Amino acid sequence: MALAYVGLGANLGDAAGTLRQVLDELGRLAGGRVLAASALYRSAPVLAAGADFINAVAAVETTLAPQQLLQQLQAIEHRHGRQRPYTNAPRSLDLDLLLYGQLELNTPALTLPHPRLHERAFVLAPLLELAPALVLPGHGPAAPLLERLAHQRIAKLA
Ligand code: ADP
Ligand code: MG
Repeated sequence: MALAYVGLGANLGDAAGTLRQVLDELGRLAGGRVLAASALYRSAPVLAAGADFINAVAAVETTLAPQQLLQQLQAIEHRHGRQRPYTNAPRSLDLDLLLYGQLELNTPALTLPHPRLHERAFVLAPLLELAPALVLPGHGPAAPLLERLAHQRIAKLA
């Protein structure tokens, strides 16, 4: 069993509704269960086009290997109509594998920890909600990283 963290984001369609549904779908993935889910957050697009994003993070206990888990996440994205017309285009659903235990990996299809995790408030805030003392492989404690990103607009939703 490994403890993985999955980042959820959307800024097309009913983003909040999509994220709630996907949290449910993550719980039904073979070989795993959702241990905890953060609140939903609203964030300004970072290097991306379109409306504000809705974001969340889920803690997932899984028997899947990291590559298998990513494939399952991409299948869920696909089912929710994810298209990639251009880099950083608005998306109906983006699922990123943020962390897989303490694993560090650098392959073309999968980098762990997620390569931009440490510079995104919309990932770090929900992640720290679930794991306040989290230490990121290669980056150290996560909490001070978020403090440096106060200029990125993000709000926790009720
Ligand atoms: P982004 O989320 O960066 O806007 P995409 O969702 O289109 O872009 O992902 C682009 C590629 O990133 C995917 O094909 C995937 O193989 C790769 N990738 C590498 N590491 C990860 C990771 N940790 N989580 C999700 N995708 C990853
Ligand atoms: Mg992605």
